[in-house]
Amino acid sequence: MSPFYGSAAIGPGQQPDYVNAVAQIDTTLSPQALLTALQLVEQQQGRERGPERWLPRTLDLDILLYGDQVVNQPHLHIPHPRMCERNFVLLPLQDLAPDLVLPDGRRVRDLAQDCDRNGIWPLADASR
Ligand code: AMP
Repeated sequence: MSPFYGSAAIGPGQQPDYVNAVAQIDTTLSPQALLTALQLVEQQQGRERGPERWLPRTLDLDILLYGDQVVNQPHLHIPHPRMCERNFVLLPLQDLAPDLVLPDGRRVRDLAQDCDRNGIWPLADASR
């Protein structure tokens, strides 16, 4: 589990700040079954999905990577298509696995080094 970061919401309108983190797990679930399981957890935590994309969220669980597999199915893309543009993904991922190499050969440490540091801050670690 990475440390927690606070980040300013992206997208239009006023939204409260987010808390972001990255976790590494072992699973016997397939990528699709893992997505279904994560969506169940989101629902259990009160997440509602509607037509509006940029709404405040109680919990958003994404699959960033699944080993070195590349998955391109209609409702599931791995690596997560926007992970390399997001400082709130790259900074906690770097804390967890700086030497991790993505399926396209890019190293997490290098991606994190180049990312924008605006709108993100470390939080006091409440996970331990
Ligand atoms: P979001 O609003 O960010 O939670 O978007 C979730 C939707 O993105 C889900 O309904 C998934 O079908 C789709 N999706 C595609 N790739 C991924 C991924 N790697 N992790 C999580 N959701 C994904």
